[in-house]
Amino acid sequence: MRSIYMVLDNHRSNIHNSSCKNTIQRDFNMGVLSMKGGDGEHSYANNSEGQKRLASDAKPVVVETVKEMIVKMNFPGCVKVADLGCSSGENTLLVMSEIVNTIITSYQQKGKNLPEINCCLNDLPDNDFNTTFKLVPAFHKLLKMDVKGKCFISGVPGSFYSRLFPSKSLHFVHSSLCLHWLSKVPEGLEDNKKNVYLRSPCLPNVYKSYLTQFKNDFSLFLRMRADETVSNGRMALTFVGRKALDPLSQDCFQNWSSISDSLIDLVSEGIVKESDVASFNLPFYNPDESEVREVIESEGSFEINNFETIFGLLFSYKTGRTEVKDYDDNNLDQSCQFEVIRKRTSIIRSITEPMLAAHFGDAIMDRLFERYTYHLSQRYDTLRNKPTVQFFVSLTRK
Ligand code: SAH
Repeated sequence: MRSIYMVLDNHRSNIHNSSCKNTIQRDFNMGVLSMKGGDGEHSYANNSEGQKRLASDAKPVVVETVKEMIVKMNFPGCVKVADLGCSSGENTLLVMSEIVNTIITSYQQKGKNLPEINCCLNDLPDNDFNTTFKLVPAFHKLLKMDVKGKCFISGVPGSFYSRLFPSKSLHFVHSSLCLHWLSKVPEGLEDNKKNVYLRSPCLPNVYKSYLTQFKNDFSLFLRMRADETVSNGRMALTFVGRKALDPLSQDCFQNWSSISDSLIDLVSEGIVKESDVASFNLPFYNPDESEVREVIESEGSFEINNFETIFGLLFSYKTGRTEVKDYDDNNLDQSCQFEVIRKRTSIIRSITEPMLAAHFGDAIMDRLFERYTYHLSQRYDTLRNKPTVQFFVSLTRK
């Protein structure tokens, strides 16, 4: 135990010296928002099967949208598409291959020459782009024809809450599971001391701070894309939402409630400071449908073509990933259940570890996620049947 204290103290003093700790609370350093890079056990690349499945469920709508757009734009000579928040790993390239194949087929069916296709992969500068770039040769193999000299892939590091592309240059924007990440931790969360996100009982001002930040950010996102997309350009956005409910009386996002519980455990064990938990909040918001619609309508640059709610389940006895299909896991034996919970923990770790480690230090991560596994197992029966909510929104630039 003593050595853990020493490691932590060293780490804390490093954090204090670089003033990194306060950066995350007051002026959120977007760098630490990246998912866990590389291809190790807890990497995003190895723990994003659920996200891949969600993108594949959205595929028919994406394909239809791209086809319609090409016809409406009368088969342009150059088509520029972007995946915003591409992260690291194969997911973004699988989506891009669907988009490029749809473009190829649309042109071939009309006997047109293939256009030049510019595929832009965007994420924050700290994202592990290299893990993705190494998969580009495999991406080419997924395409229906040899597109050498016709299809160009590039990385675009930067925040999608700022301008990323020249004016009126984009034809199609895709973004999957990103827009629930805010540009920063909202102001005014000083009273949210024992939780890392909204949780019952929630103070009204805490909810208001999160909602205001979401509205400002999402509106800014739309304004930036409005400048960058051509007229009739399309966007397909998928993000984590919630059912319309009273956010002050219910936990808004169960995954984060168990993080709060785990951190509180580490405070009791004396390896995390209470004040460090009090000053940590996630830059995350899962809106309900009305909140999303209101921002799109009041910003005014895009028309809503399609707004779908996709319900899933947090656990599945087969994979432990968020599942769109219902599985009957009533008869799940204990060891299977543990495996499901362990996988779920790994997924959450791949998403949150860089943020948590920047604030609390690397040294406590294994212990923190041990506690996380414990809390998930305690709440397994409640969580198992609680549906997750994702929104799929398709928009056209007016
Ligand atoms: N689209 C991928 C990754 C989703 S994870 C998939 O479906 O698997 C969310 C990604 O959004 C992370 O890689 C994170 O770094 C990125 N992200 C969050 N905020 C961002 C911002 N402001 N600008 C660009 N990327 C952002």
